[in-house]
Amino acid sequence: MKLDARQRAMLAEMGIWLPALPAAKTAPRPTAPPARRAPPPVQRAPKEEAPPPAPAEAPDDAARTARIALMDWDALHAEAQQCRACGLCQQRKNVAFEGGCRAAHWLIVGEAPGEQEDLQGAPFVGPAGQLLDAMLAALHLSRKSNEPDKAVYIANVLKCRPPGNRNPQPDEIARCAPFLQRQMALLAPRVILALGRFAAQSLLQTNESIGRLRGRVHDWHGTPLIVSYHPAYLLRSPHAKAHAWHDLCLALQAAKRGADGAT
Ligand code: SF4
Repeated sequence: MKLDARQRAMLAEMGIWLPALPAAKTAPRPTAPPARRAPPPVQRAPKEEAPPPAPAEAPDDAARTARIALMDWDALHAEAQQCRACGLCQQRKNVAFEGGCRAAHWLIVGEAPGEQEDLQGAPFVGPAGQLLDAMLAALHLSRKSNEPDKAVYIANVLKCRPPGNRNPQPDEIARCAPFLQRQMALLAPRVILALGRFAAQSLLQTNESIGRLRGRVHDWHGTPLIVSYHPAYLLRSPHAKAHAWHDLCLALQAAKRGADGAT
């Protein structure tokens, strides 16, 4: 990828050096649909323990999932805003349902709202969101753009903040999963960027570490999915920014291949 002076200055300011891009490799396609799993909320370091298994879906949950799977954007947003399907509704200030453009070719999936996301009702705000915006800008992408090939859509696995940024519980993950599944179906992105272990493991239904999942192109039901570090982790671990930049470039390559295939 060729970078102009402005992009290089931006990346240098973030402490990102630019080694050669890794060759894209295709990872095995996951054998099951999107998931419900556990770990780290925003603003915290990834943890190494395996996420707890999601509970089996009860009949009432199955009916709710089927109902949500038929919703359009507005109905889905309204459903989430009033959702009381898990205990996280009790202490939330706002539901952080989405950010960016609903026509975007890029989907960015985060983990769970933190304090600022809860206050503002949007994913990836505060310092972590600012870092994400800067790295996206280096790729000429923006959550403020309305042009599909320059825009991003952002969603979290959990829409409500776990109190004190504790780990999400399996029942919370299971009950919130239909929202992300429907967001992904409505958006039909050309590329998915999963940020953080929680998002990656949930979407790929695996317990593998970020270190083993990143650096290759996964297949999420026909859509390329790239795993990278959560910006909150990058703020604490600047040495990982170069790896994150590799991941973004890998995602850009996958998006371009998707665009070529769509024309
Ligand atoms: S986290 Fe998800 S399932 Fe739980 S109350 Fe919020 S929107 Fe509903």
